[in-house]
Amino acid sequence: MTSVAVIGAGIVGLAVSHALRARGHEVRLVDPEPPGEGTSFGNAGLIANYATAPMASPETLRQLPAMLARSDRSIGIDPGYTPALAGFGWRFLRAARPARFARHKADLVQLIDRAITGQHALLDALGGERLYRAAGCLQVFRDAPCSPSALDAMAAAKRADGVACEALGPADVLGLEPELSAEGLGGALYFPETRSLRDPLNFSRCLHRALEGEGFTHVSARVEALTPLATGGWRLQAGETRLEVERVVLCAGIANNDLLRSLGMRLPVVSERGYHVMLETPLALNRPVGWLTHHFYATPMQEGIRLAGTTEFCPPGKAPNGRRWSRLADWGTTLFGRPVEVAKEWVGVRHSTPDGLPVIGEVPGQPGLMLAFGHGHLGLTLSAETGRLVAGLVDGEALPEDAQALSPQRFLNAS
Ligand SMILES: Cc1cc2nc3c(=O)[nH]c(=O)nc-3n(C[C@H](O)[C@H](O)[C@H](O)COP(=O)(O)OP(=O)(O)OC[C@H]3O[C@@H](n4cnc5c(N)ncnc54)[C@H](O)[C@@H]3O)c2cc1C
Repeated sequence: MTSVAVIGAGIVGLAVSHALRARGHEVRLVDPEPPGEGTSFGNAGLIANYATAPMASPETLRQLPAMLARSDRSIGIDPGYTPALAGFGWRFLRAARPARFARHKADLVQLIDRAITGQHALLDALGGERLYRAAGCLQVFRDAPCSPSALDAMAAAKRADGVACEALGPADVLGLEPELSAEGLGGALYFPETRSLRDPLNFSRCLHRALEGEGFTHVSARVEALTPLATGGWRLQAGETRLEVERVVLCAGIANNDLLRSLGMRLPVVSERGYHVMLETPLALNRPVGWLTHHFYATPMQEGIRLAGTTEFCPPGKAPNGRRWSRLADWGTTLFGRPVEVAKEWVGVRHSTPDGLPVIGEVPGQPGLMLAFGHGHLGLTLSAETGRLVAGLVDGEALPEDAQALSPQRFLNAS
């Protein structure tokens, strides 16, 4: 049995703790906040089996100028954040080159494939359909004409990635989701095997409850300092608490950057904020509906419909941009063809890498210190697989061949 401190009780830290406990390790989960109340609180709830293409792609580069020129753009870059984006930016441009994109996409397809199996198993073990809907999801096309042959080609490309996908015309889309507005609807991609959470916070809480018991402690404190011990292992200073453990796993999201900086290390993981609004308006939506032109999903959740998404490269602590909430509500009005009322608003920080793959592995030169962050848009989807990989590392196993692309070493080689 190894003593392990897991820093951060978001969905990633919780899933890592779960995998470590399953192997019999003693886990101290350190977070000043209750479980699942960071970024993991506010996501769109999708176990995103369809997400097989990294954002850094030739297609994104082609579309970016037009996306940034829109007055109602959903992608934004805060000018004050540009210096922090330098290391990310050039790697993003490089990752978008056709050959690199193809390589990262192949890595992501493999990762998603393993991740979905693990995530579904975890959901089923913790509560089954009480926790999720198994009704698939839709991605609608409604802004520009979309020919049936173009939709068929997109669906075929997803099937080539191993994802069940069908192209639907407007009548079939409305048959599945009668609440959607017919006006301007061109069609949709339908992913019948996608699951979505009824309440992401409840999932985190269930995982936390499953951890409680012998061999697990939640230390309610913020980690301020990490020091390697001459005898091996690590000392953590967290408020008044001082812990000594054999291994540490950093799952503190964007705050990992500060902890790494104190050890003299910098990785190109940046803050990419996303927003959500919860609707007051009751709508009988059966499954998540994505409108990717605006980069958001409308997901039916326990409390109502959540419109979640958009992308804002921005300092993590900056005040929210209220226009993004208004835009989400406006797009919801168009999507459903009637005014929607907003009940609650939220903003959170994704921690994103230039190549769209998370950073999972031991920190080079720092034995016993593991990283699990950089999950971007996919932290919920990849959490169980992240746990599986980290548990192997803690047991002294190397990253498996098909997960080598996730190692932090890839950024150190490049710089
Ligand atoms: C709008 C939006 C929609 C999304 N939709 C989806 C989706 O549909 N599907 C999907 O798979 N993913 C989605 N994501 C991404 C997903 O939500 C994140 O990748 C995931 O929540 C990251 O989890 P995490 O545990 O790494 O981070 P967090 O949930 O942020 O957890 C980090 C924890 O670390 C703690 N912490 C920070 N600093 C310290 C410290 N010094 N000491 C101790 N603890 C510390 C924090 O308190 C926090 O609890 C979405 C994200 C957004 C913003």
